[in-house]
Amino acid sequence: MATRDDILVELGLTPTWRRRDSGGLPAAAVASVALESAVPKPLALREAGLRAAPAPVVAQDATARAPRIAALSWEEFAGDVDACTACGLCKTRNKSVPGVGDVDAEWLFVGEAPGAEEDARGEPFVGQAGRLLDNMLAALGMARGRNVYIANVLKCRPPNNRTPEPSEAEACRPYLERQVAMIRPKLIVALGKSAASLLLGTDATIASLRGRVHRYRGAPLIVTYHPAYLLRNLPDKAKAWEDMLLARRTVAASPDNSVADPPPVAR
Ligand code: URA
Repeated sequence: MATRDDILVELGLTPTWRRRDSGGLPAAAVASVALESAVPKPLALREAGLRAAPAPVVAQDATARAPRIAALSWEEFAGDVDACTACGLCKTRNKSVPGVGDVDAEWLFVGEAPGAEEDARGEPFVGQAGRLLDNMLAALGMARGRNVYIANVLKCRPPNNRTPEPSEAEACRPYLERQVAMIRPKLIVALGKSAASLLLGTDATIASLRGRVHRYRGAPLIVTYHPAYLLRNLPDKAKAWEDMLLARRTVAASPDNSVADPPPVAR
């Protein structure tokens, strides 16, 4: 059984400082310092190259939108997101953030929405929460872009990082569905409530959803805490690490790509 210290070492959160009265609990202040270490530099990602494709001219007709997105290729995908005006976030975004990583990945991580740094750079999870995610991947012997794809429920930043409106999540849903259909991951990890709610269609808490394997279109789906939440709630990192270990066991046990083809979209 891994100790709390083992877990923190695995997550790259050492060296730890201890409160004299804490019986060994690491001080919260250590996290942001130690997180700076061991962060893989952004890789030259296939997807990043694909972003360079010219943006197609996009008709924003609501009825034609879902089937059109469901037929996008990777070459068209990022440009299409960039041209999207389906919700009001297109007016306030700087860059759209379609997703990043290995388009043949076995692991798909789904977060909530871009924050300020992601909005400036056009890449998901590049801020502090992203550094924690990178460290969690490193602890599993993985890295973004290597058998991992990272996406968000929303492809554009909500102002002041507010929680996505249900209408925004629904407007963006076809893009996430298209990513799942193209990647056909062996496992989806829902990072936090927005991703879990959208993918599982539930309003249940993370605490009640984590620790077991759900299904999304036939593919195993694991729910865990959002990295931004973990930065504020260090004790739950141990639970998140358990979730990652469950995820790893689930991928190892899964026979083949098991995301079912999406149902036909009405035209
Ligand atoms: N939080 C998210 O959910 N996604 C990001 O890309 C960054 C922070």
